[in-house]
Amino acid sequence: MTADTTPSPCCPQCGQNDMVRLVSAIVRSDPESPLAQKLAAPRSPRPVPEIGCATLFFGTMVSISAAIFAVGLTELTTTAPRTSLLFGVRDTSVFTGIITFLFVFVGVHGMFVWRQARLNRIFRRAFVAWHRASERWQQLFYCARCDGVFLPGQTTLTPVDQMRMLIYARRQPSQATVAPPSRAEGG
Ligand SMILES: [Zn+2]
Repeated sequence: MTADTTPSPCCPQCGQNDMVRLVSAIVRSDPESPLAQKLAAPRSPRPVPEIGCATLFFGTMVSISAAIFAVGLTELTTTAPRTSLLFGVRDTSVFTGIITFLFVFVGVHGMFVWRQARLNRIFRRAFVAWHRASERWQQLFYCARCDGVFLPGQTTLTPVDQMRMLIYARRQPSQATVAPPSRAEGG
């Protein structure tokens, strides 16, 4: 019983298609084999986790620590008279503490937001590259005789260990394309 409906393209190296199989079919039929491991599909990049409670908690803790430090420092250096506030802490110290807390909190949080945006940008780029690589991988053929992979129309065979380079290449690899006829335009 033959599952293949369309004939495999010929290998660009040996010019035969008798030992050519679709890479995805090889991987699907025996994913544990060493060959399938080498020909495995490109893995999708992992999305960046959102800024969560842990980050918020961390930012708050850092801000509180900075505020306490600022209050202590002001208490040590100021000569203003003590007031009847909490534990006899001076007005200026409390004011310094609150300002420090706000600044540090906004600063730390801003840093996380900036980092998140940067990671998201990197992820988007990686995702686009992975998507293109996956599409190419789906079209990839393997020739068992020559131990290499190729895309239909490709004029050269790529060694198996360079498969990733082939599918992640920015441009479509060299193809036996005919230059489009230049259209004569009249004006
Ligand atoms: Zn071949």
